[in-house]
Amino acid sequence: MSILEREDSPGLVTTTLDHWVAGAPFSGESTRTARVYNPALGTVARNVRLANADDVDAAVQAARTAFPQWAGTSWAKRQQVMFAFRELLNQRKEELAAILTAEHGKVLADALGEVARGLEVVEFACGMATHAKGEFSENVSTGVDVYSLRQPLGVVGIISPFNFPAMVPLWFFPIAIAAGNTVVLKPSEKDPSAANWMASLMREAGLPDSVLNVVHGDKVAVDALLQHPDVASISFVGSTPIAKYIYETASAHGKRVQALGGAKNHMLVLPDADLELTADAAVNAGFGSAGERCMAISVVVAVEPVADELIEKISDRMRSLTVGDGTRGCDMGPLITREHRDKVAAYLEVAAEDGAAVVVDGRRVEADGDADGFWLGPTLIDNVPTTSRVYQDEIFGPVLSVVRVDSYDEGLELINASRYGNGTAIFTNDGGAARRFQREVQVGMIGINVPIPVPVGHFSFGGWKDSLFGSAKAYGPEAVNFFTREKAVTSRWLDPSHGGINLGFPQNG
Ligand code: NAD
Repeated sequence: MSILEREDSPGLVTTTLDHWVAGAPFSGESTRTARVYNPALGTVARNVRLANADDVDAAVQAARTAFPQWAGTSWAKRQQVMFAFRELLNQRKEELAAILTAEHGKVLADALGEVARGLEVVEFACGMATHAKGEFSENVSTGVDVYSLRQPLGVVGIISPFNFPAMVPLWFFPIAIAAGNTVVLKPSEKDPSAANWMASLMREAGLPDSVLNVVHGDKVAVDALLQHPDVASISFVGSTPIAKYIYETASAHGKRVQALGGAKNHMLVLPDADLELTADAAVNAGFGSAGERCMAISVVVAVEPVADELIEKISDRMRSLTVGDGTRGCDMGPLITREHRDKVAAYLEVAAEDGAAVVVDGRRVEADGDADGFWLGPTLIDNVPTTSRVYQDEIFGPVLSVVRVDSYDEGLELINASRYGNGTAIFTNDGGAARRFQREVQVGMIGINVPIPVPVGHFSFGGWKDSLFGSAKAYGPEAVNFFTREKAVTSRWLDPSHGGINLGFPQNG
């Protein structure tokens, strides 16, 4: 990390986070930087470099050079690096959680939860030799065997969002690396430090230099990765418009692409649900991480007559939530930037204009933190018209909307009409209704009395519709396929009975 004088305040010295290339900090040629805030203080914590195309090329060339040797390293040795990384990450998770809280703002307990979910994927990657095993069929034709094997792609690019600076990179790089690929990771420029920390830890775990590289940057760096001829695939997580752009651009440049987009997750509450548990779940899933989760619940669809009672229970719980600095044991931290906080708060005005009822107004929050922090308290809006932008847009903040419906069918129709299909949940004690819902709902991840149904590490994570572009979900079995290419080998060992000329298409017999 280099030390630079702040351009806007000469004399004030700020550290600048470098890229991480070939196992060491790398400053590159670009002189552009961006500010990284501590959202609980509202101050600039450091700057981060914004790579140009040459800086990206330096990282790609490092990864490309490292690829043959890493791809040729045995499964056992690659797995051993993963086991060592798993142990180090587990031992030092508090250190990483503190970085997440300082740059993202999420409270420490939540940051530790993020690391724990990332660790699950590392643990899955520890068994890559088993997951990526080929198949063998003996004697498919007389004297002929067929078997398959899986090989790495080459240099893979990963582009991640601000809201999970550790977990989302961990969804991808452990599996990619354990499979024998080399990586260029472009994390969010809003909270970039976790990526360097993890790359350095991978080195400590025994990963050879240049297998995992980190470039920081914005659209310039992303475009350079998308167009680079030596990048074989792109794994992206972020908002829907950018996910679509990434999918189209990287595909046009011949790459394999998985691009996970935004969300607007509904919780359908049937009249027979346990309303105490449902209210707990709505509050946890609506306001955890200040609603900056792609699996946050943002719409409660209440099947009448439960709405009034449920709203009362939710708002009672909301009044007891503490908002403040993530290091102080509060329930909820600040939003990522001042601009984002203001954008989210502006939806309360839209709600009033559209005739919705603001039940709890987060703008009045008294935060346990610095006055300049990017605070917005938990907000509850009732009777949100489905034509309102409050209902339509992904707000990505602590704003929970309630829509009242008269039946299961009306609720289902609403969810299925959404352009997004990331996550959803049903709260009910009726097993038949839950089974019907899991079959009928057009969403990729479904919770039954579980509000945030993020699949465990040995399943795969991803949505439907505008929440995922490309055919592969993240982590789990779909990631094994994504980060490897299959070969099918048909083999016959010499035997005198195989001789003779036959120009016909080979038939098995
Ligand atoms: P974002 O789309 O603004 O940024 C994501 C990444 O793309 C960042 O690395 C950023 O630098 C880059 N980027 C931004 N603008 C770009 C442009 N014009 N061209 C090329 N690259 C660009 O997303 P964000 O605000 O960092 O993250 C929040 C979003 O991510 C939300 O929409 C959330 O739902 C989504 N998300 C989805 C999932 C999922 O699994 N589906 C998980 C986490 C977050």
